[in-house]
Amino acid sequence: NCNQAAEKMFGYSKEEMIGQNAAIRHIDEDSYLQFHSSVLESYSKDGHFEAEYQMRRKDGTIFPCENYVTPIYNDNGELIISVSIVRDITERKLSEERLKAQNAEIMEEIEERKKIEENLKNTLENLERTNKELGQFAYVASHDLQEPLRMVSTFTTLLERRYGNILDENAKEYMNFVVEGAKRMQMLIRELLFYSKISNKEKVVEEVDCSSVLNTAINNLNAQISESSAKILYNDLPTIKADSLLITQLFQNLISNAIKFRRNGVTPEVNICCKEEENHFLFSVKDNGIGIEPEYFGKIFVIFQRLHLRDEYPGTGIGLAICKKIVEQHGGEIWVESFIGQGSIFYFTISK
Ligand code: ADP
Repeated sequence: NCNQAAEKMFGYSKEEMIGQNAAIRHIDEDSYLQFHSSVLESYSKDGHFEAEYQMRRKDGTIFPCENYVTPIYNDNGELIISVSIVRDITERKLSEERLKAQNAEIMEEIEERKKIEENLKNTLENLERTNKELGQFAYVASHDLQEPLRMVSTFTTLLERRYGNILDENAKEYMNFVVEGAKRMQMLIRELLFYSKISNKEKVVEEVDCSSVLNTAINNLNAQISESSAKILYNDLPTIKADSLLITQLFQNLISNAIKFRRNGVTPEVNICCKEEENHFLFSVKDNGIGIEPEYFGKIFVIFQRLHLRDEYPGTGIGLAICKKIVEQHGGEIWVESFIGQGSIFYFTISK
């Protein structure tokens, strides 16, 4: 016997199915025979049979099914009938396939991302290495350049001292150029060496009382401050986690510039403030000096970039590059706002 659902599933009428050789509803004779022996084997082992396999409809199409077969025995223990519950699992199989495909896609995407991450990691490592090598190169170059330069200065000074009386005016002038050039190169090299030392320095993180490091910076600038009668004003400054030597240097460079680039006839006034924000402290160093054209706001932080002739304002153009390096080492940023003839405000942030 069979129910309506079975008629619908296989496409045969009840009449056609009763007495029909069951093999016709299987893929072929062999798979029917295998099914048959598996059923009997399961009966004796588990008391029933259950499995997933494929069956055939009347129209010849094959579909996946789940089959649960239970035996019914007579009083003598002889098998008289098997009750078979067949479920068409086409839909389930399809969604399983879909899920598998989706999983495969996700796995592919994960692999792709892993590759990108790996590439990024390699690039970062390369960048770090190149940076380190560059820092070492700058150190070695500036360190080793000092020695021959010292020779040039020493011997030109000796030459001038011993033979100065027999040199004519032209020769004396040339000699001066050589001495001046050597001195300037020495200063540049010293600063470059300092810059590379800062780049290579392992940052020390400690509790830094900004008022105290600012006082140290002001003391270091004593001569420049009293010679210009500069006023240095600041309000309550916080304690931050930073490298105190580097922060002292940072304040020193900014204040020194604020005094150096003063307007003629205007007493320099420097204001240092700090505002606590969510993730960092925002510091500002404001002056009433000559100001900077907006087109140079970015350029001045690049090493050896200066906007003035040396006769106007002395310097090497390395101070702000050092400031930038220090701020970046503290996970911050530095920038400037300025108006020509009114003054500049240098801002920098230090991560909390
Ligand atoms: P240096 O002071 O040796 O020239 P810096 O790197 O400290 O080198 O500064 C670069 C340039 O930025 C300076 O030459 C100057 O033109 C400009 N600058 C820096 N600070 C100020 C300031 N407070 N006011 C006006 N210009 C400034």
